[in-house]
Amino acid sequence: MITQTSQKKSGRGSTWWNITAGMRKSLVQTQFAQGWSWTGIGQNGMADTLTKEQRSERMGLIRGRDTKPELVVRRLAHRLGYRYRLCCSDLPGKPDLVFRSRRKVIFVHGCFWHLHNGCPNNRMPKSRVDFWKPKLESNKKRDTRNKIKLSRMRWTYLVIWECETKDIETLKARIAGFLDDESN
Ligand SMILES: [Zn+2]
Repeated sequence: MITQTSQKKSGRGSTWWNITAGMRKSLVQTQFAQGWSWTGIGQNGMADTLTKEQRSERMGLIRGRDTKPELVVRRLAHRLGYRYRLCCSDLPGKPDLVFRSRRKVIFVHGCFWHLHNGCPNNRMPKSRVDFWKPKLESNKKRDTRNKIKLSRMRWTYLVIWECETKDIETLKARIAGFLDDESN
């Protein structure tokens, strides 16, 4: 069953629908644990037994959006009185917060997915290193390319790492400092 579905993962083919909710749930979990289909799971593939919160959290993990650290930063920026848009697809790297009139963006990066150097949250998994290493390294390279593109477009960016969202006071000062600085 898993093999069948994995062949069809991009198309959400009929095989997906012919299986029961319970099987679907275990399939999603398997896929997610294995990591090979996390961009391919659509909302239709989510198990029906999840609560709304669980579902949104799971989808957040899968899509890489609306995960907690991003919410912390969004709430903080909002509370500080800055108005932003979410993730504009016309900008390189789809920044998490876009301050268009200031030509500034903020990325909130997960330490694991974006390979935060020297961070304890960024430990390479012990198994399937041959899968994870190139995947994570290519994420990192893509981030670098996107930052270069943004700079060329005369946008400035701030990267906030997941592990930096715990210290709210410091975070607040960083966000305000970045957005108020008119020299960049
Ligand atoms: Zn980190």
